[in-house]
Order: sequence, then structure tokens, then C-alpha cells
Amino acid sequence: ETGSGVEVTRERVATADGREIEVAANVGRSAELPGAVEQGADGIGLYRTEFLFLDRETPPDEDEQYETYVDALEAFPDGRVVVRTLDIGGDKQIPYLDLPEEENPFLGERGIRRSLGPDADLFETQLRALLRAGADAGEERRSASGRTQSGDDGGSRLSVMFPLVSTVDELDAALTRVEEVAADLEAEGVAHAIPELGVMVETPGSVFMAREFAARVDFLSIGTNDLAQYVMAAARENEHVAHLHDPLHPPVLRAIDRTVDAAHANDAWVGMCGEMAGDPDLTELLVGLGLDELSMSAVTVPEVKANVAATDGDDASDVADRVLTAETRADVVDLLGVE
Ligand code: PEP
Ligand code: MG
Repeated sequence: ETGSGVEVTRERVATADGREIEVAANVGRSAELPGAVEQGADGIGLYRTEFLFLDRETPPDEDEQYETYVDALEAFPDGRVVVRTLDIGGDKQIPYLDLPEEENPFLGERGIRRSLGPDADLFETQLRALLRAGADAGEERRSASGRTQSGDDGGSRLSVMFPLVSTVDELDAALTRVEEVAADLEAEGVAHAIPELGVMVETPGSVFMAREFAARVDFLSIGTNDLAQYVMAAARENEHVAHLHDPLHPPVLRAIDRTVDAAHANDAWVGMCGEMAGDPDLTELLVGLGLDELSMSAVTVPEVKANVAATDGDDASDVADRVLTAETRADVVDLLGVE
């Protein structure tokens, strides 16, 4: 049992009408893997790899990263492990990387912008480690049913996604890097496999381009912490605008809806890995909006799993439809019966 008194289950969960929803955990280090397994997570939905770079003087090298990713795959022998490539800048600083002083760091060089720019070498090292780990992961296959995902037809259960992408050019450049790294490993005779690939949706630009993104990758994952920040133009750490940095504001909900539709129209699966996904009061809404996967801090996994199992798909769709017509956050809160 957990603190909430909800029974832990290792089983995958489905709605009352049989729609399977993957409930995964967010982690940042190997030490967090046992906790995620204990809480019954189906896998890892967000591995924040910047944590591997903290509390040390130099970046982890290729072999060390490879071992770390293999650890995660071994912790979930039947699950999917979604690793996010290095996401620094903004609120995420790493002293020895010498990030520039910026007036507006949240609007500056962060996420994929650094990986395609000043951190290109780190990006290459990380991709090499990931493609090597992908070779291990490709040995086994997930057998999730009723969902369109490339992982089902022989792909690996390792997934890699890119943070803070806003343009097709950025995504194409990142995908080209993956191909280049694969070609290098091939030439060197090193075992490797290209993992399932995805992109985070956490900027307004990515919402508007979600169709084009979904046509290029296997999955989208919505980062509501940043998405709320950028859609609402309210910094995630600023108490003065905390009332605006809230995913229950209609513009954020409509951005999520649009993203889910764009993914499904292009046969991509779509998850959510921002804080919103772990709010048990919102499970029915998120199922109704069509999310295929929810990833959260491990402690909330049992409660969200229980809520998925208690959700009826048709009721959830009705809730989502009504919420999407709401004009204010107050109306949303009213409709959901939350605080
Ligand atoms: C997000 O922005 O919602 C997200 C999951 O990424 P992070 O919180 O690490 O920025
Ligand atoms: Mg983010």
C-alpha cells in the first residue's frame, strides 16, 4: 500500500471499457528505479538525464551513460523506458558546462537548442550510449495491444525523446544526428539499434506543428510544466504568476487536445509527463482527452492506476468534451468538481 491507502499493482491497467493506459514513472537517476518498480510503474515515461550530469565535475562518458540506460531497461524487463536527451538551460543549470548568462533563460538557449549548438559533442556521446543500449533493448519486445506504435512491430522498448523542440528544422536536425551516430557505430562495428523516437510538446510552436512532428516520429510526450509556462506566458517558478501557471486554464487544455488529435491522426502514440499527469483528480479528464500514457512521480502511480481502472471511456470523453468548451479556469474546476 501507499500513503494514499491505494493498493499497488504491477498489472497494466485499462479503463472499464478496455482501453489500456500506460502508467509510468518519471526518474532522474538509477537510485530511483527500485522505487518506481515498487510502486508498480509500467515503465519509465520520462528519464530526466540532466540529473546524471549533476553533483560531479565532468560529464558522464559514453560507457557510463550506456550502463545507466541499461540499468533502467533491466529494472523494467517488460516495460518501455523513455529517455529524454539532455535538457539544460532555463531552470536547469550544470556548473561545469559554463552556460551563458541570459536575461531571459527560459526564452534562451535550453533543451534541444543547446544539443544542436554548444553541446553538440555531449549530444553525440549521449546518442551513442543510447543507440548501444537500444541494441540490448531490441532483444525483447513489448506486446502492448490495441495501440498503434512502432515498438509493437519489432522496434525496441527503449524510446528517446527530444526536449523543447519548436520547429520542424530542429526535429529534423536531431533525427539526422541519430542517423549519423548510427552510421558511425555501424562503421565501427559496434552493436546498436535506433530506438523508438519521440518529441516533447512543451512550447506553443510544437503544439502548432504537432502534426508535422507526429508524421516524423513514433510518439509525442506533453510536458505540461513548460507548456503551461509558455502558453500562459507565466514563469514556472514565479509566485506572482503562479495562478496563471496552471494547466487547467482553457488555453492549455486546448493545446493538449490539439496535440493528442495531431498524434493520433498520424498514428503516433501520445503521453504526458508533466506534473498534470500525476494529479489523481485529473485522470478521468486525461483519459477522456485521449492520452495513451501518463508518466509521473512514482508515488502517485498506484492512485492513478486505480483511477484509470475506475474510469469509463464514454464518461471520460463526455467530461473532456464539456471541459473543452469552458471559457475560464473557474468553469473547468467547476465541471471537474476539483478545488
Ligand atoms: C515539462 O516541462 O512538463 C517536463 C516534463 O519537463 P521538465 O519539468 O523537466 O522541464
Ligand atoms: Mg520541460
